Amino acid sequence: TRKPLVVANWKMNKLPSETKEYIEKVQVTLAGQDDVETVLAGQDVLLSKMVKAARESTIAIGAENVYWQERGAYTGETSPAALEDLGVAYVIIGHSERRNYFRETDEMVNLKALAAIQHHLVPIIAIDEAIVTESEGDHVHWVVNQVIESLEGISAPDVVKLVLAYEPTAAIGSGQAMTPELAQFSLRRIRLTLADMYGWEIANQVRIMYGGSVKPTNAFELMRQPDIDGVLVGDAALDPSTFVELVQLAR
Ligand code: 13P
Repeated sequence: TRKPLVVANWKMNKLPSETKEYIEKVQVTLAGQDDVETVLAGQDVLLSKMVKAARESTIAIGAENVYWQERGAYTGETSPAALEDLGVAYVIIGHSERRNYFRETDEMVNLKALAAIQHHLVPIIAIDEAIVTESEGDHVHWVVNQVIESLEGISAPDVVKLVLAYEPTAAIGSGQAMTPELAQFSLRRIRLTLADMYGWEIANQVRIMYGGSVKPTNAFELMRQPDIDGVLVGDAALDPSTFVELVQLAR
């Protein structure tokens, strides 16, 4: 069985001075609970404070991006070795905002995922969904392709440790989540692709999340779908008590 996962993606929304209070609030209400994996992802400049504030808790900290080289003349980039050294456990890779605003390609996503694995970070590989208005065939092709290309060269023992996150662009920040049935359909496609690549025994161990306007009113129905193992949450996770509510709904 796959352990449920709730990940807050703070995006570029919090200040270093705001992190401690948030984490303390979440920690107090979730104390002693570890049946849901709980992750907070923040901008690089927050990470050391976040790791420090979460040290005594079951909350894990994630980065929102990483570069694929370990060291060198790459001004402004963040090394996976630095994240590991800091105590960061997860990293979101290929978020739809990175793909759309910063032109990240499947090939870059793949290099980043490989580098993250090498540094014992759990990659949360985001699969976006731009072609919502096209035919079902195009939709399937687009999603399947991203999965295949992002996972190139990743072995079966490594793929079971990583997480995939399906985030339809139209649902992100719109207040309108995809219906649970459609989300399940897309996640099933992703799992079928994993089964084609690695076999069912492996595919059934990989956790796949849904992201896009998740909130307390829709999280339960989404999480109830057989292939949805977790949620990746933006806006609703900016408030610590709403985030805690989402974690409780995932139990
Ligand atoms: P919202 O929850 O704000 O729609 O954002 C989703 C997202 O992009 C999480 O990574």
